[in-house]
Order: sequence, then structure tokens, then C-alpha cells
Amino acid sequence: MNVMNRDEAFFHRMMDIIENDIVPLTLRGVKMGAKVFGAALITRRDLNLVVASSNHEANSPLWHGEVFAIKEFYELQNHPLPDECLMLATHQPCCMCASAIAWGGFPEVWYLFGYDQTNEDFNIPHDQKMIQDIFKTKEPNPDNSYYTMKPLMGLVPEMKDQAAANKRYEAVKARYAELSAIYQNSEKTMALS
Ligand SMILES: [Zn+2]
Repeated sequence: MNVMNRDEAFFHRMMDIIENDIVPLTLRGVKMGAKVFGAALITRRDLNLVVASSNHEANSPLWHGEVFAIKEFYELQNHPLPDECLMLATHQPCCMCASAIAWGGFPEVWYLFGYDQTNEDFNIPHDQKMIQDIFKTKEPNPDNSYYTMKPLMGLVPEMKDQAAANKRYEAVKARYAELSAIYQNSEKTMALS
């Protein structure tokens, strides 16, 4: 019997949340000119979804998926403690979100698509431009005193069924390409689109 190891079970749970909880919100958002980035806050112990969110820049350019998820998390009555939760981001957090996650108190961060893909596949260059222009670095320190930040695809080499993980990644990537096309064709009203 092919029993999934811990990394595999974690990976597939994160992909379930992206596909079932974040993508539907993102589809609504891109139709209104919001970018494709989404995020969720999840309990670390049992991987229960606390809040899923997507970019809300139709309301404010600061409402990136991660920041909006943190806002919604703190608005929840009886939310778990932040250090009991992990942040899942569909894309490697930008410099604003990387700081917001530290301010929010979340000790563990996972993301699906890295900066390189954000730039190449989605035609949204500001993440990397800002971090280089303003902070003179290429990416936030992934192992800092506030949190550790890792790519989900970094789990694949430890998996028993790597083909299944890669296949799932490609399917989600194709879905995001569709979402990105809707965004690129939508009417954008923000300063930086
Ligand atoms: Zn951001």
C-alpha cells in the first residue's frame, strides 16, 4: 500500500486548500481587476483552515492576499493564537507581506510559486523591483528570528510519489495561468498593475 509520508500529506493538504478555498476567491477577485495572489492561515497542529483570502486591491493597493488574510484573522472572534498557525501563500510573499507576516506573529510560512515564476508567468514585476530598489536585496531572509519560510515544492524530493506532486503542481500552475489571463484582460484602476 502506498501510504503518504508526512511531507506528502502536508503538501496535498496545502494544495487542497489552494484549489478548494483560495482559487474560488481569486477567480472572483481577478474579474474585478485584483491580482492572482492568495493566502490562508491554517492551524499548525491539525492543518485546519482558519481563514482563506485573496488580493483585494480594488479596495486598497495594500490589500495583498497575505495582508488581507491577517486582517480577517484578527477580526475573527476567538481566533487561534498566531503562533499556533502557519501562513500559506500562493506566491512567495513580497517585501510588504514578508514584514506583515512578522508583525502578525506567524512563525511558519509556506508558498507555492517563487518570485521567478511570478515575474515570468504572471507579468507582475513589482515584487522583485521593490525589494531590490528599496531594500537592496533579492528576497526576504527565509530563516529569520520571526519565522521560517519555505517553498512547498521543496518537499517533493522527500516524497514517495513525486510524480503525483509534480502533476498536481502543473495542474494548479495551469489554473493560475487562466486566472492571470483574466486579470491581465480586466480593467485595472491601481497605481501599480
Ligand atoms: Zn504582498
